[in-house]
Amino acid sequence: MELRSPQTRDIVPSYWYNITPDLPEQLPPMLHPDGSPVDKRELEALFPRSLVEQEFTTQRHVEIPGEVVETLLMLGRPTPLIRARRLEEALKTNAVILFKYEGVMPTGSHKVNTAVAQAYYNAAEGVERVSTETGAGQWGSALSLAGSLFGLKVRVFMVRASYLQKPYRRILMESYGAEVYPSPSDRTNTGRRLLAENPDHPGSLGIAISEAIEDVVSSGGKAKYSLGSVLNHVLLHQTVIGLEALKQLEMLGVDRVDYIVGCVGGGSNFAGLSYPFIGHRYNDGDPPVFIAVEPETVPSMTRGEYRYDYGDTAGLTPLLKMHTLGHDYIPPPIYAGGLRYHGVAPSLSILVKNGLVKPVAYGESEVLEAGLLFARTQGILPAPESSHAVKAVIDIALKHRGSSRRPVILFNLSGHGLLDLSAYSRTS
Ligand SMILES: *Cc1c(COP(=O)(O)O)cnc(C)c1O
Repeated sequence: MELRSPQTRDIVPSYWYNITPDLPEQLPPMLHPDGSPVDKRELEALFPRSLVEQEFTTQRHVEIPGEVVETLLMLGRPTPLIRARRLEEALKTNAVILFKYEGVMPTGSHKVNTAVAQAYYNAAEGVERVSTETGAGQWGSALSLAGSLFGLKVRVFMVRASYLQKPYRRILMESYGAEVYPSPSDRTNTGRRLLAENPDHPGSLGIAISEAIEDVVSSGGKAKYSLGSVLNHVLLHQTVIGLEALKQLEMLGVDRVDYIVGCVGGGSNFAGLSYPFIGHRYNDGDPPVFIAVEPETVPSMTRGEYRYDYGDTAGLTPLLKMHTLGHDYIPPPIYAGGLRYHGVAPSLSILVKNGLVKPVAYGESEVLEAGLLFARTQGILPAPESSHAVKAVIDIALKHRGSSRRPVILFNLSGHGLLDLSAYSRTS
């Protein structure tokens, strides 16, 4: 078997896959605090109309605009599907380990896939500026890049702890022309209130979302809000990953996958790889086992409750039904900043609740060790977020040391860790 798939342009799909019609139960509606359902129209205050349509659509396939496909091609899609044979050898496993490598995108992660689509639709509807939050800086840099390509101003509220600890991500966003503020900031009521309580407030993703939304609501219609995970339209845009992988597996002659693994913050990269495989019809043989990996310190899927909750700290978003640790939960500062979110996507929550996706949680040091083994065998230092998936893959592979069968494990390497090097400085 070849070690790497071909990367021709016909591998990039011309439609996204929407899992909504294939879920085992209906997606519960978004609600207002009084329990009434949120109307599409109301969401148009925050998002452009086309993205609101995608948020609610029940169509299985949604066409990708030609300009979005062209832009994704220019930026590096299709991403490679690679066999991790040296890792297999180091683990002495009989399992075949394959990964989709999203770190080749210019800002180093899968987030570019939805950033390009969101910037395209905002620009097409005449929006001047988008505001967003960022934790570790991956989402902020992806949207800053996409904004610069489509002539859209970008304002980023960056969790203060990361703003101080990760100057390179801030510089990258500013290089693309974005404005970046540490959150809590003095630009919103929410930010000012929190700074008055604690001038050294470290911030959180939930707080930064509240600030970005407040910034949009008070912009007089000039700005829209943009979110990097959790919502249906974001997960939809990420399905290019799994749709490409299906074609690439076929080209490599792999006719069956036994495990599909990904890390989960809000669920977008996991959904991006796995949903097209969940929607795929398995005429003969069993579907793969789907494994979603989260940090032990942010255990929304393994220990959270399935209930309605806000997406942000201040309670400005509609209520979403999801696995949540509570919107006021402030996760401890772990290196995998992109996984520090109190909830997960509603569609993923349904799949977990119905046993179709199996969640697992790992501790930080074992995860970073796994990332280092991957770097030393395959040459790519994973983002600390992605190392969660690597850790789970290693555990599965070790179980298949002596097995006569050759199970195939496919995982998403959601990003590289070259702007997160301090995470690895203690363990190496
Ligand atoms: C943001 C991020 C994640 C987590 O977000 P999801 O929406 O769950 O994918 C994972 N990996 C990387 C590299 C990220 O930047």
